[in-house]
Amino acid sequence: MRRFSLVLSLIGAAYLDPALAEEACPNPQGALGVSRIVEIDAKTGPLFGGFTKYEKEPRFLEPKEVVLTFDDGPLPKYTKPILDALDKFCTKATFFSVGQMAQAYPDMVREVMGRGHTMGTHTWSHPLNLRALSLAKAEDQIERGFAAVALAAGQPIAPFFRFPGLSDSGPLLAHLQKRGIAAFTVDVVSNDSYIGSPQRLAARTLDQVERQNGGMVLFHDIKASTAAALPTILTELKKRGYKVVHLRSKSVFEPLPALTAELEAKRLTAEAKKAGPKKGEAAAAEKPKLVPFYAAIAASNLEAQSEPQVTPLAPEARERVHAGGTHATASTPVASPDEAAGAVTQPATPARRKHARKRHKPDSDPLSLSNAVNGRW
Ligand SMILES: [Zn+2]
Repeated sequence: MRRFSLVLSLIGAAYLDPALAEEACPNPQGALGVSRIVEIDAKTGPLFGGFTKYEKEPRFLEPKEVVLTFDDGPLPKYTKPILDALDKFCTKATFFSVGQMAQAYPDMVREVMGRGHTMGTHTWSHPLNLRALSLAKAEDQIERGFAAVALAAGQPIAPFFRFPGLSDSGPLLAHLQKRGIAAFTVDVVSNDSYIGSPQRLAARTLDQVERQNGGMVLFHDIKASTAAALPTILTELKKRGYKVVHLRSKSVFEPLPALTAELEAKRLTAEAKKAGPKKGEAAAAEKPKLVPFYAAIAASNLEAQSEPQVTPLAPEARERVHAGGTHATASTPVASPDEAAGAVTQPATPARRKHARKRHKPDSDPLSLSNAVNGRW
């Protein structure tokens, strides 16, 4: 209860009282903490992380540095304990939330941001494979996801995006560049979509972190095993000398105003329906409260503590050339034929999970692109 009221007091606050910050970080010396902040200027549409066949930015992480990322949420049942674990270790992460999930749990989106984490997006409805959609539909998925998460947040969010299944493409990367969005793939796959045992998940994640000597780690905040394993993973990272780097955006994302207005109108209509005919009319007559996207992202509780060193990162504009030397297009997918056939899996539904389990080979090389699109993320 105390934690809950603390969190409420943080929402929308421009700063955090140092006494409260201390409470949020009970053991700053012993905790994993944040070793430095990398502040990314996304205006040229950079592409980060190892899992892509497109020309990417050089790795900005030093050996033994990790970035913690959580996809597919928010889902309060698991997002909350994950936030508690991150707080206990005084560390920060980046969340790539799904638009529909954010609309379903807007309070959770605000809580993630209120607790000092960075909010990026992961499409509107997590389609199986953006490359399998028309370019217009895929772009709408990206834009609608940003508009929905920002609306739920009630404050500007970072122009940070992760492709579901890491299914990037030349034309979609070009769209991100045009819109000043940074794309993030991954370096380390926890495989939490498929590992139910927290012990096994912790062991596997740490093993992969060791193999890559750090990197951007992919988790999902919709998984029970992730919530249960995270304290062990963070304890071990600290013990083994790893450092957490927190990503921050230099600028905020500006959603398309038409999409924001459309989503807000739908929300008001839904609210009006729920409220019944009389109150409903009043709600429907209410003017949409659009988010002031020109504003800066509110200072996080990270800044209330002594702020770690900030490394600015402003990659130059570059053409996203496919590593094969040619430009890939939406009609020439770069990954496996399975993916082109739409075999990727959205992690949320049990039926899909069952289907994915059948296809999935647990011992296959985790660092292969075809795994990304064969039902893993
Ligand atoms: Zn996902």
